[in-house]
Amino acid sequence: MEKINPKELKEKLFRPKQNGWEKENLDKNQIMNFSKEYIDFINNAKTERECVKELSKLLNANGFKNIEETQNLKAGDKIYYINRYKNIYAAVIGSDDLNKGFNIVGAHIDSPRLDLKPNPLFEDTELAMFKTHYYGGIKKYQWVNIPLSMHGVVMTKDNQKIEINIGENEDDPIFTIADLLPHLSSKQNKKKLEDAIEGENLNILVGSIPYETKEEITEKVKLNILNILNQKYGLVERDFVSSEIEFVPALKAKSLGFDQSLVAGYGQDDRVCAYTSLKALLDIENPKRTSICLLADKEEIGSMGNTGMSSRSFEYFLEKILDKTIGNKPGLLDEIFQKTRVLSADVTAGYNPNYPEIYEKNNESYIGHGISLIKYTGSASKGGASDANAEFVGYIRNLFEQNDIAYQNSEMGKIGIGGGGTIAYILADKGVDVIDCGVPVLSMHSPYEITSKFDIYNAYNAYKVFYKDE
Ligand code: MN
Ligand code: MN
Repeated sequence: MEKINPKELKEKLFRPKQNGWEKENLDKNQIMNFSKEYIDFINNAKTERECVKELSKLLNANGFKNIEETQNLKAGDKIYYINRYKNIYAAVIGSDDLNKGFNIVGAHIDSPRLDLKPNPLFEDTELAMFKTHYYGGIKKYQWVNIPLSMHGVVMTKDNQKIEINIGENEDDPIFTIADLLPHLSSKQNKKKLEDAIEGENLNILVGSIPYETKEEITEKVKLNILNILNQKYGLVERDFVSSEIEFVPALKAKSLGFDQSLVAGYGQDDRVCAYTSLKALLDIENPKRTSICLLADKEEIGSMGNTGMSSRSFEYFLEKILDKTIGNKPGLLDEIFQKTRVLSADVTAGYNPNYPEIYEKNNESYIGHGISLIKYTGSASKGGASDANAEFVGYIRNLFEQNDIAYQNSEMGKIGIGGGGTIAYILADKGVDVIDCGVPVLSMHSPYEITSKFDIYNAYNAYKVFYKDE
């Protein structure tokens, strides 16, 4: 028997692991340029509403039409639907019979943040503050003493929509939550990390000058703030009840590292997948299967609500497409779902060498190693997981291997350490084949998340290959 060189044998049999930056024929310029546009995007789109605005500009500029303004649709047509200013579905109609199923990439555009309570403004010891109610899974200690900006909309008594964005421009003021100084923190220091900063202490400092008057009145600082808001926006205190105001980090996304290989920025969960999946769709011309990008809201709090993945708004969009192409009929969408392929494009935890004890090294996602295919999420018992079928995982890995897409297969941390979920299970409930497939992130849900530029560009290519596949 001929003896095979063991090095060659190893190469043949082992699962390859490669740092993406070491790939042959890598166009680093292309990667860097793509990331520049991405950095601009996450700086301009810090809330789901701002994402919808920025991305609909891109859709309009690339020949996509609002589906409500179209008559019949034919192969090659590009359409989108905006659901209540907060989430988007976009599609390119395929030339194949729509009965054969869709290729869908789904990401989410909401991110953890601090929302205002309905009655937010109060004055205490001549400081004006906003009460907040945090949105999504945050480590509260990370959100104090960082610059915050104010984004959102207020509906006034006469049904005017006032849009607010303060803290992003160089000349804008910022806001912050004042933490306790170390000198007086001996009690706080002994608390558990999760209790050290209470939800009710996430009060944002918004002003300190009393309203100028000789009259004896109380709450003069609060009055002064309301007066400023009234002069600038016409607001009165009660208008906050019909508002959606989000405070997010007023930090600019930037290249990170001497080699500028990484991106640090707020909201990359999951705007890194949202941006790359939509950018990939913009490049799809005349696909065989109808290609769809869905960008959901409310993933971070369980996907409920009429802009979340659990809403039937997505079906509404798909049924509109059927109406305008082959004609809809009862049961048709269910039939199509059975033949539909979905990538649930959501970020996952990158391996963090500062915390080796949390991870199981053989089954983690590594920064710069490409897109992570996550067969199942969930927790210790796989509870709550949508577990992709081997046949579908096989299809996806072969697609990626044939198209030179860097991918890795992982879980998230050791068994029992924690867990997480995505929109995958909600789509799986409809009968589609679905697998989680996204970019690994360091410091997920923090005010300053970290991704690899290689992974960003690679994700864009992965989604493009997936949309196009017949
Ligand atoms: Mn996510
Ligand atoms: Mn998340």
